[in-house]
Amino acid sequence: MRRIFTTIALTVTMVLGSMMTNAQPVHSFSVKIGIDHESVDSLGGRENVERLITDMFRRINKAFNYDARFDAIYHFEVDWDAFYIYQGISTREVFKPHPDHDYLVVMDGYKSHPKEQGGGWYGDKIQTVYHARTHNDRFNSPFEPGAIDGIIHEFGHARGIPDIYAMKVDADKNPINGQPFLGTRCIMDYPYGETYWSDYAVNMINMAGGRNIDIDDVVMKVVPDNIVINARWADGKAVEKATVKCYPVGWYSYTVQKEPVFTTEIAKKGEVKFSTENVFSREKEFGVKYSNCLVEVEAEGKKGYAWIPLYYLQNCWFDGKDSCELEITLKRDIKLTRDI
Ligand SMILES: [Zn+2]
Repeated sequence: MRRIFTTIALTVTMVLGSMMTNAQPVHSFSVKIGIDHESVDSLGGRENVERLITDMFRRINKAFNYDARFDAIYHFEVDWDAFYIYQGISTREVFKPHPDHDYLVVMDGYKSHPKEQGGGWYGDKIQTVYHARTHNDRFNSPFEPGAIDGIIHEFGHARGIPDIYAMKVDADKNPINGQPFLGTRCIMDYPYGETYWSDYAVNMINMAGGRNIDIDDVVMKVVPDNIVINARWADGKAVEKATVKCYPVGWYSYTVQKEPVFTTEIAKKGEVKFSTENVFSREKEFGVKYSNCLVEVEAEGKKGYAWIPLYYLQNCWFDGKDSCELEITLKRDIKLTRDI
């Protein structure tokens, strides 16, 4: 009881504090937590686990509040009256409805059953974080620093941000120009030891605001209407005639596909504009079909390239533009070796 009172008092202080200083809205989300009994036993009993969970949520809430770029104060609030310890298979808990709470967190420190697969964010109608660790040793508890970094990333999904690492490309999986695509620094790219949200992540969190949302629905909405490719020679002159090919990258594939999904021509002034839908078509599963695209411009036998990762495309929308513009420079002569 004392704990609940403390939590409420703290929340009220936070709310009043924010109203007095900068009038930021406060978005609260209720969290129900279930944890498997083996984890509770190994971590020294229920009281210890409650303390660890309290510390964990202090860190989660801090991650969603230290950054001045957020439009609101975020508060993920554990409902201790709903807290429960379960016996049995964790993956069955993950899919249980939780109509009285925004989110369910299922914690499993051991994954002791072969059916206990996976982990991470379960979106759509499920809205659950399966916070699972694989190994049965005390150095891999659900509360170690890396595990907490991981659950902060999962709450990033809960607030509408897709995996930025799913937009990356491995050099050996790029048959078009052999270049890797490395992504951008963000908790949603690599969470371990990371405290930085990319501009894209901040934009998505701000857009989701206090609503209960699903990533795919949010992703689908923030697509600019057009893509504009601007091609120039290295001396600044416009490329007058060129072929433009868009090679797509599938989510989590790390691969540039061999065949372009869309081909067009630059006919004048080094510029072509086309509907984004030609490449990033809407679809139910991920919101848009591809996570990235390699654009190739070819003129006079020379080629130039640019990437359109989804975060770049959607940041154009967040900047209020109806077109996402890319500059591609072509070099007339590329020497592969130096003379001296
Ligand atoms: Zn993720």
